[in-house]
Amino acid sequence: MGELMAEKHITDAIVVHCIDFRFQKYINNWISENIGEENYDRLSIAGSVFDFETVFKQVQLSGRLHEIKKAIFINHEDCGAYGTEGNKERHAADLCAAREGLDERCARDLAVELYYLHLDGEFERVS
Ligand SMILES: [Zn+2]
Repeated sequence: MGELMAEKHITDAIVVHCIDFRFQKYINNWISENIGEENYDRLSIAGSVFDFETVFKQVQLSGRLHEIKKAIFINHEDCGAYGTEGNKERHAADLCAAREGLDERCARDLAVELYYLHLDGEFERVS
């Protein structure tokens, strides 16, 4: 029993994205095509990386529990959590800051992918 309880459940990635209902079908399709069906942890939170401290804790947990190798952060156009400040430059800056935060503070060496999701469903890679 104890051994069963201690068994590790391992997955590849954590995907972090906004709660906004308008984007869920795009995100679901993108995940299916790019990650698979059962290879990821998923965090849905208003603004995605907007509240980085909360996101950071969840990524840490995901790493500890499931040994993820990669974090994928998806911010989107017209995000209510950002309001009028949510232009593309701000989203890109926050996404890059989130990656730097992970690089500096996360005990795990994670690959990080950043995306800006347009209203029409286009995923734009942020580098
Ligand atoms: Zn949003």
